[in-house]
Amino acid sequence: MKTPLISAKNIKKHFDVGDGILKAVDGISFDIFPGETLGLVGESGCGKSTAGRTIIRLYEPTEGELIFIGQNIYELSRKEMQEVRRDFQMIFQDPYASLNPRMTVEDIVAEPLDIHHMYESHKERSVRVLELLELVGLGQEHVMRFPHEFSGGQRQRIGLARALALNPKFIVCDEPISALDVSIQAQVVNLLKDLQNRLGLTYLFIAHDLSMVRYISNRVGVMYLGHIMELADSEELYINPIHPYTKALLSAIPIPDPEIQRSRHRIMLEGDVPSPINPKEGCRFVDRCAYAQDICRTTTPKLIEKKENHFAACHVF
Ligand code: SF4
Repeated sequence: MKTPLISAKNIKKHFDVGDGILKAVDGISFDIFPGETLGLVGESGCGKSTAGRTIIRLYEPTEGELIFIGQNIYELSRKEMQEVRRDFQMIFQDPYASLNPRMTVEDIVAEPLDIHHMYESHKERSVRVLELLELVGLGQEHVMRFPHEFSGGQRQRIGLARALALNPKFIVCDEPISALDVSIQAQVVNLLKDLQNRLGLTYLFIAHDLSMVRYISNRVGVMYLGHIMELADSEELYINPIHPYTKALLSAIPIPDPEIQRSRHRIMLEGDVPSPINPKEGCRFVDRCAYAQDICRTTTPKLIEKKENHFAACHVF
């Protein structure tokens, strides 16, 4: 059996918001294997971005363990964590906001190399920057330019070059394509896949666009109000969803064939995602679920294996 690169065990991230406790992430567990992409999907406010940040300890967890190559990184001191941090990187939804507008591309990409003293000479630094830019499809002509001179897709490439500078093992991709034009989205996703094959990278890919997640992910977890509702191989989840929430999300994806689209039954999700402040005991989806029973209001369903490698948290299905 393969050993996971990342093993998240009952991770929680709660925030004290004055009039209550906001349970953004409330006990999530999963493994991510080397070279794999795990997709994490859900509506905005479901806690998926907080989960990504907590997993790599950009946010301190409230509870749980994150085992990375045999050690629980939540127990490491700040100094020990600095070493591990090289292996973890994150790319963001808005690449422009994460690039310093007053720095050239060369300095942006070289920043992690500067911080970690990763070169002997200025020449070595320049060579490494060029190598990183080439990896993401940019070249020498871009080195001395500033972020505002680039398109959204190119800026995402610059962010990616910087994220790759320290040869990370694991990258959290936090909605990296949702701010881009549809035509550019596929290019960035293909680049991520290509880099994964070439460099053996492992990704957590966070998104609300279910169709793109299917394309890039080996397995997909569906999140709702801080809980994982369903987790399965990507194709299995899309073909045989179990959880009522997953079914509703999938039924909302438009199908290009108008005949099939007309004949499909679209499950309407009533209302918005409820507030994660002081959530009640029971299934978090209960107020929007057409199949709710009494037990759903009193007992939180556990994420259990319903079929081989297909997990769901539901009392009824
Ligand atoms: Fe619906 Fe109950 Fe299943 Fe929750 S546990 S999804 S409320 S049927």
